[in-house]
Amino acid sequence: MMDSSPPRITSLYVHVPFCAHKCEYCAFYSEASSGELINRYVAALVRELEIVAHDLKPRTIFFGGGTPSLLNLRQWETILRAMEKLNLLGAEEFTVESNPATVSADKSKLLRDFGVNRISMGVQSLDEKLLDRLGRIHSREQVFKSYDTLRQAGFENVNLDLMFAIPTQTMETWRETLNEIIAMQSEHLSSYEVIYEDDTPLFHQLQAGEFSVDEELACSMYEELIARSAAAGFRQYEIANFARTEESATENLNLSLSPKIPTRACQHNVNYWRGGDYHGLGPSATGYVRGVRTKNWANTPLYCDQLEKGKRAIESSEELPPLKRAGETAAFGLRMNAGWPFADFQRTTDFDLRQEWNGEMNQLAERGWGKISGEGFHLTHQGLRFADAAAEMFLR
Ligand code: SF4
Repeated sequence: MMDSSPPRITSLYVHVPFCAHKCEYCAFYSEASSGELINRYVAALVRELEIVAHDLKPRTIFFGGGTPSLLNLRQWETILRAMEKLNLLGAEEFTVESNPATVSADKSKLLRDFGVNRISMGVQSLDEKLLDRLGRIHSREQVFKSYDTLRQAGFENVNLDLMFAIPTQTMETWRETLNEIIAMQSEHLSSYEVIYEDDTPLFHQLQAGEFSVDEELACSMYEELIARSAAAGFRQYEIANFARTEESATENLNLSLSPKIPTRACQHNVNYWRGGDYHGLGPSATGYVRGVRTKNWANTPLYCDQLEKGKRAIESSEELPPLKRAGETAAFGLRMNAGWPFADFQRTTDFDLRQEWNGEMNQLAERGWGKISGEGFHLTHQGLRFADAAAEMFLR
């Protein structure tokens, strides 16, 4: 008999909502937590994986947080064994976010043994004073030590996460951090400007006038990042993401990559920016499956309660009208340097950018923010700096 079920979803995001300590700038859903709640979360997550497994055949998996590396060996083993039993291992790209203070040789080996092949390490800065300023729990020495541990465990695809425009950071300290990071020769770099989210300690300090924001310096730091990473062989493929292209990576990856996207780009995020489907598990995680966006409860005990009753812990779910969905997809894709090839956009959304968004594209091109070619539309270097404003024009 023919199988009439729709193709299974190929992307999986899992949110791990625990951190050793809350950073000053962080607005993600995470909490400093006790071992007992983490054990309960692990059991609930396994239950959620069991519920969703029939609709998953992951080519990319991303465990983000929070601090996934905070889970201990036994907790990781429970999750990975469950995934093995459910046939969810073997992804082409399997990323785990790690904090340099919680990387160990044992854990790294376990993750490698179960097919994790990419680590994203939250470095943020290599300046001790700035690490302190951000409320990070790790030291600069731990960054180098953990990086060696990961390499020794066999991780050949590592992302280093940085921040710039940190209060009191000078161009000189930013250059020093960039020099040292580039010398580490990771395959991927992500770098974000500090943002001041409501209700974070950093936001309150800014409100109280403890420091001021220097927009011009932030722009110069971003330009420095782009220039230095390009000179070191990275290619920028998204506003904040830079990756290398390596021959060996091309052989190992089967994913359909545009030639404009470097082979070491994060495939999981590329799927996201390209409007692809993904299941999102764990407290506060969002998912996007066949036009329906879901959001799990951003409350770990409540999340556990629901799953202990055998139910998914979905707080809200919304089916977007096709045009609204296409507008969001357009906006996401414009974050990427490659922008949108018209044919890809049409295949993904059933809409033609040249018909529905012709006016917006022309307006952006006239302003020097966008470029229209025979094949597609992308933001220029200048346009990428204002990508949020540009992207908003595409929302319907
Ligand atoms: S480690 Fe990451 S998720 Fe955790 S508090 Fe810091 S920034 Fe937030």
